[in-house]
Amino acid sequence: MRFDTVIIGGGLAGLVAGISLQQAGRSTAIVSTGQNALHFFSGSFESMKEAPERLTALFAGAGIRVHYNPGVRLTPLGTFREAELSLEDISLFPEAKFADKALLACVPGYLDFFPAFLAEGLEKQGIQCRLCSLDLPEELQDGSVERRSVQLARLVDRDWKKIVQQIRLMIQDEDAVILPQLFGLQDASVPEHLRQEIPARVVFAGTMPPSIPGIRTQRLLKRRYEVLGGTYLGGDEAVEAQVEGNKILSVRTHNLEAHALEASHFILASGGFFSKGLRSNPFRVWEPVFGVDVDFDEDRNAWYNEEFVGDQPYMQYGVRTDVTLHPLVDGQPRGNLYAIGSVLGGTRPELGSGAGLAIRTAFLAVDKILESL
Ligand SMILES: Cc1cc2nc3c(=O)[nH]c(=O)nc-3n(C[C@H](O)[C@H](O)[C@H](O)COP(=O)(O)OP(=O)(O)OC[C@H]3O[C@@H](n4cnc5c(N)ncnc54)[C@H](O)[C@@H]3O)c2cc1C
Repeated sequence: MRFDTVIIGGGLAGLVAGISLQQAGRSTAIVSTGQNALHFFSGSFESMKEAPERLTALFAGAGIRVHYNPGVRLTPLGTFREAELSLEDISLFPEAKFADKALLACVPGYLDFFPAFLAEGLEKQGIQCRLCSLDLPEELQDGSVERRSVQLARLVDRDWKKIVQQIRLMIQDEDAVILPQLFGLQDASVPEHLRQEIPARVVFAGTMPPSIPGIRTQRLLKRRYEVLGGTYLGGDEAVEAQVEGNKILSVRTHNLEAHALEASHFILASGGFFSKGLRSNPFRVWEPVFGVDVDFDEDRNAWYNEEFVGDQPYMQYGVRTDVTLHPLVDGQPRGNLYAIGSVLGGTRPELGSGAGLAIRTAFLAVDKILESL
């Protein structure tokens, strides 16, 4: 099978690159093993000090809306973190005291949401909290299904009008209503309906992972990629590359066995340790598909910080590249291969971190590929 570009990894970086190349009329394939960092996404994009038009247009095409509003967001544990560019349903406030009184809506037996922590955190900010219970969707009432985010999220969008009715009956003098981030998985317009129909400021509070806004974002990007004609090989793993001189000729995958994926360009978007884009044993860190150079400390003791909650040096390890994101092998760039996203670790601080790094490097690699054609 031959494509213009083959992308290894279908997380944020791989999908942004794939959509952009498809939009430019290139034929691409994405091979992706499975879960990625979007499934754990807070909804806020790190290191994005602006909302680039190119990104908002790409997201809008996929049905994803973002807003740029520097401030703080509420975490699942009732604390506040600085945030800037975020998915539209993540509330951003100029300061942590965003209301005087809040009605905190809980779902009985819901295992991934901790209203007591939220209430404690909000009370610390001077926000008076009152807890109320929402009725469960019928399918969950007999107790045979575990009340996890994904199970609830499959059902709640359908019932949004009933939820509005319940809240309207329960609300007294509260100026904010806090709901779990459970909405919008089946129907992305539901968070906005809730905001419009509930007569108070609606705030969606994060739950424990997986993240429903993150899963929705991944699904919408994947759907957009496929609508544009991209070939998404989900549940498959790139295992090795065929190389000639400085060039990658093809990539072999686990499922396709003998049918290697040939292309003019390859993009490595396989993520960091979390997604197995980088591997390690007690002696070294390596990149498993192309075997490109990885920046890491030879001294094993320098990999981690004994202060558990401090910054961990190993999180900075990543694939070494030249300025145009070509990974190096023994110091020599692989001419038709680009590394993007968190597989770079902290090796390219000038390009940001987290989601900002994934997006910037995806666009950079796409531009280089299109320039070269
Ligand atoms: C748990 C977690 C939460 C995060 N939360 C945030 C956040 O809230 N905000 C933020 O800005 N940043 C966050 N980040 C940082 C995150 O890394 C980036 O935001 C960004 O989503 C990374 O995207 P990526 O595409 O580079 O990598 P990933 O999302 O890791 O995707 C890599 C993909 O490649 C696949 N893959 C790996 N090896 C292969 C192979 N050999 N063959 C085929 N497929 C392969 C993996 O299965 C995975 O699907 C988080 C990171 C983690 C780990």
